[in-house]
Amino acid sequence: MRFTEQREWMVKAQIKERGITSESLLQAILNVPRHLFVPEDIRHLAYIDRPLSIGEGQTISQPYIVALMLELLDLQPGDKVLEIGTGSGYQTAIIAEMVTEVFTMERIPALMRGAEVILKKLEYDNIRFKIGDGTRGWDEQEQFSKIIVSAASPEVPNSLIRQLSAGGRLVIPIGNRFMQDLILIEKSIDGIRMTNHGGCAFVPLIGTEGWQE
Ligand code: SAM
Repeated sequence: MRFTEQREWMVKAQIKERGITSESLLQAILNVPRHLFVPEDIRHLAYIDRPLSIGEGQTISQPYIVALMLELLDLQPGDKVLEIGTGSGYQTAIIAEMVTEVFTMERIPALMRGAEVILKKLEYDNIRFKIGDGTRGWDEQEQFSKIIVSAASPEVPNSLIRQLSAGGRLVIPIGNRFMQDLILIEKSIDGIRMTNHGGCAFVPLIGTEGWQE
């Protein structure tokens, strides 16, 4: 099967049939060539239902989990999104397909460099990149309507809650270093509401407001 056909099959069998319904999200996933975001020697595995190694001890997440997190985020075209954990840049590309502005942070410079090269080659011009500790957020002065954290934290970093605007949504895996729950935080002027959307397993979020190295 060609990559395009593999991608169509992935969306149908792994994502749509497991309950993801947002048409704009499904279309964005169809638009992004996932195989270009994985190392060349494992490209033939790019569309299977599991996370894959991208070097530096890190992974590109399983396609279904990416879809589930983004469906929970409920992306709208006017959103300003902060993504923590750029990794390969794959999820960044899906977000960039759907919204006006994406701010993405990664703590490992080599991964960020790789992601930036491919995302620029694919001509995304609505992404801002920052190398650093994403547990502190982008900048205390910035506010985001949506925040997604693609690494596991023992608790929700306070800096991220502060940088989420009222009416905004934040999705983050919370738990121990090996198993977590996918948590959605909805912020309103009255406070925050947290809901649990099931088990997951992510690499650790390393930083001041996450795990120590
Ligand atoms: N969504 C990514 C993709 O599509 O390839 C996969 C992300 S990977 C599961 C998690 C990433 O979070 C790793 O690249 C890791 O280096 C990064 N990370 C961990 N702690 C971080 C922090 N404090 N700030 C920024 N990135 C961090």
